[in-house]
Amino acid sequence: MEKETKSLIKDYMLKAGQPNKKTLDDLCRKIVKLRDRKCCVCGSTSYLQTAHFITRSNYAVRWDLDNIWLLCSGCHLMRRNSWHKDPASASEWVRNVLGEDRYNNLRMRASTVGQKIDKNTVLLYLKQEKRRIENGRK
Ligand SMILES: [Zn+2]
Repeated sequence: MEKETKSLIKDYMLKAGQPNKKTLDDLCRKIVKLRDRKCCVCGSTSYLQTAHFITRSNYAVRWDLDNIWLLCSGCHLMRRNSWHKDPASASEWVRNVLGEDRYNNLRMRASTVGQKIDKNTVLLYLKQEKRRIENGRK
């Protein structure tokens, strides 16, 4: 077999065994809605969206539940002091909610560079958290 073909098959096999981005994003959204149920900042139950504190383009914390919160569109994007317009107030909010240690740990995980994410491990973590949240509500 040609070297190139072997490499293509290897890539395919690796990808085939991993959940895709959308699966993990969808599961995160479901879990955060289940966990928070209303806007974490103002308590509104309208125009809810999941918001990443540290950008979701940072894969080290893209599916990290300490980094994702349910916010209304006002608190997320629109208001003068929304997370997108006033990142300092977002930092302060997250720091208050998580506490100093968890906040610093989140920051540290986010600063990880050059690590490949094992999506199967992420999926396992998310399923476990979903179960934990579901059981906690009963
Ligand atoms: Zn809000």
